[in-house]
Amino acid sequence: MLIILFVIIIKKKSEIKMSENKVIVANKGLVRADFNFWVGQYMDRFYDNFEKKKLIGNKCQKCGDVFVPPRKICGKCNIVIPLEENWVDLPDTGILKNYTITPYRVNDRTSRKAKPQVLGMVQIDGSNTAIIYRLLNIKPEEVKTGMKVKIEWSEKPKGDPSDIKGFVKM
Ligand SMILES: [Zn+2]
Repeated sequence: MLIILFVIIIKKKSEIKMSENKVIVANKGLVRADFNFWVGQYMDRFYDNFEKKKLIGNKCQKCGDVFVPPRKICGKCNIVIPLEENWVDLPDTGILKNYTITPYRVNDRTSRKAKPQVLGMVQIDGSNTAIIYRLLNIKPEEVKTGMKVKIEWSEKPKGDPSDIKGFVKM
């Protein structure tokens, strides 16, 4: 009687093992993964200037394009922009090149916000690229590409992307 019971247990264990090998193809829900990473020497300098509420970019020594955020390599000329050279002070004004209106939070796609928010692609004056931030204090129907906007800095900048709260219409 005891031996028979033992056999049954072995068989059940092997069945469990087989089911553990199944591949899970879908999992509903969010996975939260907090992490830190270093942004590199060029972006380090960029964010350091945020602490002084200052915007800088770097300039390709060959074609003259100005990058915000700064780049190590100019994609057009395929040359390295030296870290210690070609930094350009930029104003905190720019032109809205494009935008999108979304009812979702940027970092939380599962919950809807009551008020739709506007995300704008802004080309800082004197630069050839654009950065993406929220447009503040503006109704979606008032947003127009080509309009002048200005950075709204946070009261206590700490040298990271959140120092720019967004852009406001000028
Ligand atoms: Zn270039």
